[in-house]
Amino acid sequence: MSAKLPNEMTAAVLHGKEDLRIERLALPQPGPGELLLKVEAALTCGTDLKVFRRGYHANMIKPPAVFGHECAGTVAALGEGTTGFALGDRVVAANSAPCGSCAFCKRGQANLCEDLLFYNGAYAQYVVLPARIVAKNTLRIPSALAFDEAAMIEPLACVVQGLRSTSAAAGQAVGVLGLGPIGLMFVALLKHAGAHVAAAGRRAPRLALAKQLGADEVVDTENEHGWRERLLAGKHLDLVVEATGQPEAWAFSIDWVRRGGTVNLFSGCPKGTSVAVDTNRLHYDQITLTSSFHHTPEAVREALALIEKGVVKPKDFIGGEIPLAQLPELFRKMAAAQGAVKTCVRP
Ligand SMILES: [Zn+2]
Ligand SMILES: [Zn+2]
Repeated sequence: MSAKLPNEMTAAVLHGKEDLRIERLALPQPGPGELLLKVEAALTCGTDLKVFRRGYHANMIKPPAVFGHECAGTVAALGEGTTGFALGDRVVAANSAPCGSCAFCKRGQANLCEDLLFYNGAYAQYVVLPARIVAKNTLRIPSALAFDEAAMIEPLACVVQGLRSTSAAAGQAVGVLGLGPIGLMFVALLKHAGAHVAAAGRRAPRLALAKQLGADEVVDTENEHGWRERLLAGKHLDLVVEATGQPEAWAFSIDWVRRGGTVNLFSGCPKGTSVAVDTNRLHYDQITLTSSFHHTPEAVREALALIEKGVVKPKDFIGGEIPLAQLPELFRKMAAAQGAVKTCVRP
């Protein structure tokens, strides 16, 4: 079942390290349970930048491959037996879906599913959503939301999941280290929860956005001399959220929290890296270390609700819009640390 569709589409194809090309590909066909999404808006993401720099992703992307995983669009075709959606529906999908039957899924830790199924290919005019993602993690977009706003559910769901593992309460003092999209979303949700937030990171536009999102204190870790000593002198934080992906920042986060406090080591660091922890600090100061990976279907739904309620305003994070043809140039800029927090790509 499908409306009139082209035979080909334009897509961004990753050929290797920093080698991204705009190409014409055959239109993918949705199989049983799958659906073909006409991409109306895709968002750039730090994960995609990592993949662009490395030229591959260990378990998701082997070049040449389409990539991108934050998008929203309209249903353009349905595979055999696909239910729950109709042609023309405005939908957004999370980038993965859990199996529902492994030990982790049964334990309520679907984010750790042994068989998480991912899709990639958001930077294209069309993308096929796998049957399991259609069934478990594809949602209708509320009419008040634009496609680019809805497309932010995936990273926001990760942040929702992260906060579930730490329970920040009103009145608590919280430090956020790292002000990429993830750190900034933490700032927004923590302010919504009524916390007092100290945000530390780099680059003027991101520091300004942290302030705009309500951060009570903003620390420039690139240009403020002696910021480490200044922050460590206070030691009053109940919770520290680390969102940089750097082992040094993990170590600093453990130093920064107060006695009896909690540290959420949220970000993934490069493989093979490690951090030494002062055992006395951990024990006698009773520090709780926690971490969080990915998201569950519940967190995905909560993320969409938070966007719909205006608690997180995607427009605050989306710095501009480009046509798909300009994506390779945009990734080169992002690699040189010049990009916006997030950019909307219109295929
Ligand atoms: Zn992402
Ligand atoms: Zn599972």
